[in-house]
Amino acid sequence: MRDLSRREILKATAAVGAGSVVLPGIMGAGAPAVAADGPGWSSGEKYPPATLTGRIVRPQSPDYAEASLGWDELFVRYPLVIVFAQETQDVVNALTWARQNDVALRVRSGRHSLEGWSNVDNGIVIDVSELKSVHVDTAARTAKVGAGLNQLEAVTTLGEYDLAVTTGTEGSVGLSGATLGGGFGFLTRYLGMACDNLIGAEIVVAAGADGAKAIEVDPWHNADLLWALRGAGNGNFGIVTSLTYKAAPLRSVAYLQATWDGLDDLQGVFDTWQRTAPFTDPRLGTQLEVHPAQILLFGVLAEGSEAEARKLLAPLLSIGNPQVTVQIGGWGDTYAGFQIPTEDEPANWKFFSQFTSEPFPTKAISLIRAFMEDAPSEDSNFFTQAFGKGAQRSEPFGGTAFPHRDALFYSEPGVGWGTRGEPDSGEATTPIAQAWIAEFSQALRPYVNGAYVNVPNIGMAEWERAYWRDNFQRLRKIKAKYDPHNVFQYEQSIPPATD
Ligand SMILES: Cc1cc2nc3c(=O)[nH]c(=O)nc-3n(C[C@H](O)[C@H](O)[C@H](O)COP(=O)(O)OP(=O)(O)OC[C@H]3O[C@@H](n4cnc5c(N)ncnc54)[C@H](O)[C@@H]3O)c2cc1C
Repeated sequence: MRDLSRREILKATAAVGAGSVVLPGIMGAGAPAVAADGPGWSSGEKYPPATLTGRIVRPQSPDYAEASLGWDELFVRYPLVIVFAQETQDVVNALTWARQNDVALRVRSGRHSLEGWSNVDNGIVIDVSELKSVHVDTAARTAKVGAGLNQLEAVTTLGEYDLAVTTGTEGSVGLSGATLGGGFGFLTRYLGMACDNLIGAEIVVAAGADGAKAIEVDPWHNADLLWALRGAGNGNFGIVTSLTYKAAPLRSVAYLQATWDGLDDLQGVFDTWQRTAPFTDPRLGTQLEVHPAQILLFGVLAEGSEAEARKLLAPLLSIGNPQVTVQIGGWGDTYAGFQIPTEDEPANWKFFSQFTSEPFPTKAISLIRAFMEDAPSEDSNFFTQAFGKGAQRSEPFGGTAFPHRDALFYSEPGVGWGTRGEPDSGEATTPIAQAWIAEFSQALRPYVNGAYVNVPNIGMAEWERAYWRDNFQRLRKIKAKYDPHNVFQYEQSIPPATD
């Protein structure tokens, strides 16, 4: 990671000041907003001096603290400037400016980076969250959306047309961040990963010696970059400004929730879930969560009835005495209905991601119980999502960098603590929570393989392979082609190939 010296900070600050009143779209790189296919970004061409455009927030702005804060308040950063892009040209200008002033940069959309990597001290945050355009082509069943939509906005907007793409379960997560790292949720077994539904994008890449330009990617233009964006696109190659998806018709879902009080049924529930949920009808996506004092099962059956949902889950629901509810409704309304307002969630979070290809033995399930009984906060859980037999098994045309297609299920120990809006809140719990996550994930190591780049495991040895397996070498070559100067870098970014 680059650090700015004091001299460089002053130089950069002066440049920010100089650019305070500029009309979007008329200043900056001097390149066309969207360049055609082909090389050129690795040439030595110098660009005209750029100025920042868009909604610009600096440390002295009254809204700086709010503009800087991420979803996970464990990470507090002090960027030099935050640019809320209003159009693609603002992104081109911001990237050019960052390069010309040698300022560290980060890309941000929904602010849910679980290691705080979409923000940076003394650098520029290029934020696309105000790019909210939506164009739905109902005949072609495609949707081209601005990179600033969050998942709730995407699901409910498409829901109005009885269309759907896969997303994760938390509505406030950025659609960009989720899709570019893979993106799984209740519809994964039915429609594949979110990145499998991605058929194109507009992305601003570094160009020439110190500039930037927007390019289009799709299966026929810059297809190697589309492959890379499908699972490795987070902050590695450029700034995605719009995403185009192939959507699927989805009129209604059956949404089932079951609760078992206490953990006495855990062995039976977990074992039955892992031996049935990944192999059942691919229309059914399930999430099993183990909490300190209860087990929760959530299921979404696409185009299914209550009777069908109960029948498919009968082996699980017959264990113990769970309380079960089922709702039938449109996917947009159902999704909106199970959201928890962010202000009701703890301030600080820590997770550890794992994929699993073989069922957990009894010993592993006992470990989960032991750790949950010793959890550092009420908001601790062991989260799972069924994979197995389903649409995510096969790649879309053109392939994807996301590799975990043979997973039986995804899982993660997670812990939340502290109160939102109260700085340093829960500070005493922080080391306990972090140690608990480290010990929990370490204890499960014999039973898991692979990790999920969207839930990064900081400090993990061989994270490159854990996230992308053998695709890592190809990703390095694509990085060398589109970002040879390694402009886009952070703690676990992909380095350009050197040969
Ligand atoms: C509460 C919670 C629940 C979650 N549930 C799920 C789930 O069910 N399924 C799932 O798959 N994942 C889930 N995740 C993980 C989630 O997918 C990642 O945290 C995701 O990367 C967040 O994206 P964001 O845009 O909100 O975050 P940001 O912090 O804005 O960005 C995250 C990363 O993506 C990069 N990035 C963002 N926008 C762009 C862009 N336009 N162009 C290039 N790079 C960009 C950033 O630089 C950063 O590296 C969950 C996370 C949280 C916090």
